[in-house]
Amino acid sequence: MTTLLVTGGAGFIGSNFVRQVLDDPSVRVVNLDLLTYAGNRESVSDLDPARHIFVQGDIGDRALVQRLLSEHQPDGIVHFAAESHVDRSIDDPTAFIRTNVLGTQALLDCALDYWRGGERDGFRFVHVSTDEVYGTLGSDDAAFDESHRYAPNSPYAASKAAADHLARAWHRTYGLPVIITNCSNNYGPYQFPEKLIPLILINALEGERLPVYGDGQQRRDWLFVGDHCAAIQRVMADGRPGRVYNVGGNAEMANLDVVHLLCDLLDKRVPGPKPRRELIDFVQDRPGHDRRYAVNASRIGEELRWSPSVDFAGGLARTVDWYLEQRDWWQRIRDGRYRSERLGTAADRVGAA
Ligand code: NAD
Repeated sequence: MTTLLVTGGAGFIGSNFVRQVLDDPSVRVVNLDLLTYAGNRESVSDLDPARHIFVQGDIGDRALVQRLLSEHQPDGIVHFAAESHVDRSIDDPTAFIRTNVLGTQALLDCALDYWRGGERDGFRFVHVSTDEVYGTLGSDDAAFDESHRYAPNSPYAASKAAADHLARAWHRTYGLPVIITNCSNNYGPYQFPEKLIPLILINALEGERLPVYGDGQQRRDWLFVGDHCAAIQRVMADGRPGRVYNVGGNAEMANLDVVHLLCDLLDKRVPGPKPRRELIDFVQDRPGHDRRYAVNASRIGEELRWSPSVDFAGGLARTVDWYLEQRDWWQRIRDGRYRSERLGTAADRVGAA
């Protein structure tokens, strides 16, 4: 049996990752998630409790993390837990520093003690990060590779950049087998409806206005979440400690084009009273809004033989289908009912005691 400690496994990417790794019956996951507003117990509530041990708690709670490590003896840690929404980081950066920086430090410290305390040759700590740490690109600039200078522009990106530096230092100074991944924008099932694709998709379905920042010409690279999770699995299996891998979808798009595609897809699937493009509402741009991100993912392709398997049109269609089929999942978020699960079940609290 392989045991993984996954942090943030009730969030968007973490819950997809947990589902994907549990497809292998020899894997067991200890899922540590604080269930902030972005965490949703319902995203993982159907998983087999014998192989999915959910613990509601904070990565910054050293006593809890130490106890989980010693009790479950994981073979690796995959660290997703973070405050992840740029707009919220602009309104109130404190939680971002607390979780993304200090929480990551606590987790690294606990992982180091654990790793030093036994024969753990294959142990890996995968720190999941973002392309946003590299800042913004001009329209003709080459895509970010792993040697690109860090130049984070939002409090979110700055907090993730700080965490990346800590993760790197814990490898260089203490030898902890850390690997860092920097990925572009993800989309797919279970994404909290404050991020661009689920927000636009749900608003368009409900006939509500579709807010688009500035001129909508900010360009992002998009990757289907299942492909990101597969990349992390490749990194866990064969990545080199101390190495950084950029992960991207080779699918650079302007935000407005993404919104147009979503409107047109929905008009075909669920025709509304008028074309949904008419709901687009250009709103004042986000301060410090990065203009362009693009990722050069050739290193992970060449060294670990990973490449995206889903193209953007196919992934977007799958995502639209999922949100159409899983209305209950997002309606419970919209009306706040999902928060009733935030304190977890009695079993979770026993796990976290
Ligand atoms: P998310 O906001 O959907 O999920 C974050 C999860 O972390 C939530 O379940 C939340 O409850 C949990 N969490 C927050 N603070 C915690 C704490 N102190 N202790 C324990 N759990 C805590 O985020 P996501 O989009 O799934 O992103 C996951 C990771 O991937 C993040 O580190 C993010 O920076 C990175 N990333 C995201 C994207 C993207 O497009 N979403 C792209 C690249 C990298």
